[in-house]
Amino acid sequence: MSGANPGEEIGCDVAIVGAGMAGATLALALCQGGLECVLIDPLPFETQVAETFDGRASAVSFSCFRQWRALEAAGGVEPHAQRIEQILVTDGRSPGAAAAPAQGVWLRFDSAEIADRVEGEPLGYLVENRRIRAGLAQAVTATPVKVLAPAKVTALEAEPGSVRLQLDDGRTIRAALAVGADGRNSKVRTASGIEVTGWDYGHVGVVATVGLERDHQGVAYEHFLPSGPFAILPLTEQRASLVWTESRARGTALMTARPEIFEACLRRRFGPFLGEVSVLGQRFAYPLSLQLARRITAPRAVLVGDSAHAVHPIAGQGLNMGLKDVAALAEVLIEAMRLGEDIGSAAVLERYARWRSLDNVGVALATDLFNRLFSNDHPVVRAARGAGMALVNQIGPARRMFMAEAGGAAGDLPRLLRGEPV
Ligand SMILES: Cc1cc2nc3c(=O)[nH]c(=O)nc-3n(C[C@H](O)[C@H](O)[C@H](O)COP(=O)(O)OP(=O)(O)OC[C@H]3O[C@@H](n4cnc5c(N)ncnc54)[C@H](O)[C@@H]3O)c2cc1C
Repeated sequence: MSGANPGEEIGCDVAIVGAGMAGATLALALCQGGLECVLIDPLPFETQVAETFDGRASAVSFSCFRQWRALEAAGGVEPHAQRIEQILVTDGRSPGAAAAPAQGVWLRFDSAEIADRVEGEPLGYLVENRRIRAGLAQAVTATPVKVLAPAKVTALEAEPGSVRLQLDDGRTIRAALAVGADGRNSKVRTASGIEVTGWDYGHVGVVATVGLERDHQGVAYEHFLPSGPFAILPLTEQRASLVWTESRARGTALMTARPEIFEACLRRRFGPFLGEVSVLGQRFAYPLSLQLARRITAPRAVLVGDSAHAVHPIAGQGLNMGLKDVAALAEVLIEAMRLGEDIGSAAVLERYARWRSLDNVGVALATDLFNRLFSNDHPVVRAARGAGMALVNQIGPARRMFMAEAGGAAGDLPRLLRGEPV
């Protein structure tokens, strides 16, 4: 907190609380549109890009990736982005079985099937979170956005015509609008009196990066087991990111197992289809829950990203939902500014809520249903989902609809998600 002047009041148009992937992207978008913003986080960018900070990789839809290109933030991310050319889904067998249709129920999505509709884009891009964070940090640093880190918002108060945020270092910020991009335990959300609904899944996602003997050819595998999904997600440099969903107890056992035991468990689960597998770096565990804010706006405050909705990672949608919030909010605020409106007024915030609320609730509930259906070993449920997967696999238009939806190319898209500047 060196250099902070306690008692100082900083003025801006928008105070963005949380410099995670959603908050940093929003700062770039608002800055491009001419709004003056301050980005606040207890963790400086240097901490967020360390290999030990976040071991996850994210499947980012091609439309969300376009947003970073439109914001000139993709330069640092692109060299580390692996195109996802195919997604293979298997049910209850070893992942390798997906490559051989005769061996079991499977569902296959192929980027070649929608290439003409999406100008050759893949199904999505797989990038390690630390690479995304580094790319965004580099882009933010090159803009006039004022970054206050380390600094933590401790209180927030809406006043007539503005909002006042208190920082833990004694400084205050006065803005027309506060944005909560501060994750699951959002201070902006609680200080604004917004309640949440949701439930704990009693599971953790154990995450590790592995080196592969054979080329993955851009194929992502989602392998559904009774305990939950086991995903093998292709990364650059012939590596893969694993998300291994297990009960809390088994997750703890995996996290504390000696490296050679963990590697042996992994090899058994993985199968031989990509050759020898070796664990690179440390393991991480993330508790899984569903959490939905009952509203995404309050007087002089809005929520984006995980502060508004935290979902099960089964379909790789959490960050994508947050990036869609960002694109919609940026467009609403910049249009309001250009029309001379008060960007923090209830009428302006209502436009954002109308645009995003339904989609967020829909995706969160679909993700929850998907998880219940696929993490279930009841023979009837297994038979029904097997038949359902086989049916979707047979019907080209159904497959293409799923792919367009997952790519984020469906619905009323904000300009940034179409790859246009805001
Ligand atoms: C195992 C796993 C795999 C996943 N895979 C995918 C995937 O493939 N694709 C996908 O789209 N999503 C995926 N997700 C979801 C995705 O990781 C999250 O949705 C995303 O990281 C949320 O980003 P965010 O910026 O909204 O929040 P966060 O990353 O939580 O950032 C919040 C920021 O706010 C800061 N902050 C907190 N409190 C304060 C305060 N009081 N004042 C100031 N700042 C504060 C924090 O320090 C932090 O930097 C996955 C999740 C898990 C658990």
